[in-house]
Amino acid sequence: MVSDDSEKAEFLEERRGKFNGQGDAVILPSTVEEVQRVVRCCASHQRPIVPQGGNTGLCGGAVSRPGEVLINLRRLNRILDIDPINDTMTVQAGCVLANIQQAAIESGRHFSLSLGAEGTCQIGGNLSTNAGGINVLRYGNAREQVLGLQAVLPDGRLWNDLTELRKNNTGYDLKSLLIGAEGTLGIITAAVLKLHPKPQQIETAFVALRDLEASLELLTLARAKSGGALSGFELVPQMGVELAERHVPRCSNPLPGDHRWYVIMVYSGTGLELRTILENTLASSFEKGTVTDAVISSSEAQTAQIWGIREGLVEAQLQEGERYTYDVAVKVSQVPDFIHRASALAEQRMPGIRPYPFGHVGDGNIHLSLFQPPGYDPARFRSRLPEFDTLIFDLVHELKGSFSAEHGIGLLKIAEMTDYKDPVGLSMMRAIKQAIDPLNIMNPGKVVATQSACQTSSRQ
Ligand SMILES: Cc1cc2nc3c(=O)[nH]c(=O)nc-3n(C[C@H](O)[C@H](O)[C@H](O)COP(=O)(O)OP(=O)(O)OC[C@H]3O[C@@H](n4cnc5c(N)ncnc54)[C@H](O)[C@@H]3O)c2cc1C
Repeated sequence: MVSDDSEKAEFLEERRGKFNGQGDAVILPSTVEEVQRVVRCCASHQRPIVPQGGNTGLCGGAVSRPGEVLINLRRLNRILDIDPINDTMTVQAGCVLANIQQAAIESGRHFSLSLGAEGTCQIGGNLSTNAGGINVLRYGNAREQVLGLQAVLPDGRLWNDLTELRKNNTGYDLKSLLIGAEGTLGIITAAVLKLHPKPQQIETAFVALRDLEASLELLTLARAKSGGALSGFELVPQMGVELAERHVPRCSNPLPGDHRWYVIMVYSGTGLELRTILENTLASSFEKGTVTDAVISSSEAQTAQIWGIREGLVEAQLQEGERYTYDVAVKVSQVPDFIHRASALAEQRMPGIRPYPFGHVGDGNIHLSLFQPPGYDPARFRSRLPEFDTLIFDLVHELKGSFSAEHGIGLLKIAEMTDYKDPVGLSMMRAIKQAIDPLNIMNPGKVVATQSACQTSSRQ
């Protein structure tokens, strides 16, 4: 148990300052049995529990409130087994993602999940949020990286399904329920993860595009010609490059010039002439006018420079002032349409607002920030958030997209669950929650609030 208030702060603080964590107790169990004991004790006193990993989540799912007990998994951080023939790794939930990636590399394998917070987030948190990241295009979300799971249920029982099987059709897929449940159905304590061959070649290019539509033309060609080697395709706006260069030390544009849109393309694999394939794709795109300029990295330093811009454009947002942020998904073919329409709607509603779309265009997941117009009163800007939420989420809904692509629901998007989710699906979720957690003590109020809480929180 962490009792010192200053030590508690790192577990209670929410990194974007949107929520004020105030849990009564912070507990750091070091064994699965300890997790079970704490959960049983909480269940017998009907004390709400908040599971927590690296606390990098962006929707307030790991935020605890008065009266709640926060259980952070960081001490359950052992890699239990690596089986290079079965291509699996069994890990405890508190393992930091970057350590898992490193352990895979050291045994000549590859673990594909990769995201900006990988030096801090834990695999338990990644699975609980069904994290996405930069390799979804090739390998899928976190859910697709899992064969088996172990979790402590809200009554303290241990559900132990650490199976290493690739075929196992024995009823409901319970692990898929816990993955993406954001800690509302139980505390994940361990998982069996899928590994892949370690790519012998990785080619990274920074590519300037004719326009936004050109991103889809290039994506389609790259997918057709790369023999399945295309693993990353990230959209970078000119404004992102400018902000990264302005606000983040050591960030510099690998391709200076007047270009509105760029993509970062990554090919990875073994035994293919990836560089030649990439060069050919870029050359034919250049001839067609889809691509206006490009650089293929020729050194680790240049690759770091390219990824520095991608990471820098996220970091730079924090320095640029007030903004609304959206993590949405649409069909890949609708990405340009969504970006154009969302930007136009926002600009009409608030002249001078600065749209800043970027992200995983290869899988249809766009991170859209809307920066306040220069000189606009910050308090007034903040007060207009609900208006812009409706504007953007209505558009996403019209396009049959998702109001939360990869970050989840947490406390942040509870209202959108009732506003945009299919009511039948939502009632099935409530029934599942009620069946597994009848006392409603496991991360209550997150993802599926009770009917009455939903009614009060739903936006008008
Ligand atoms: C710079 C930056 C970049 C990011 N990039 C991406 C990205 O590209 N893609 C993406 O998907 N996300 C991204 N994120 C968001 C975040 O990193 C992910 O959501 C991550 O998966 C959260 O992991 P965590 O261990 O920090 O979980 P936490 O923030 O601690 O918790 C997240 C949720 O999971 C629950 N939880 C945590 N551990 C457990 C457990 N063991 N059992 C049950 N429930 C648990 C919590 O209760 C909470 O609801 C980014 C965040 C930052 C700060």
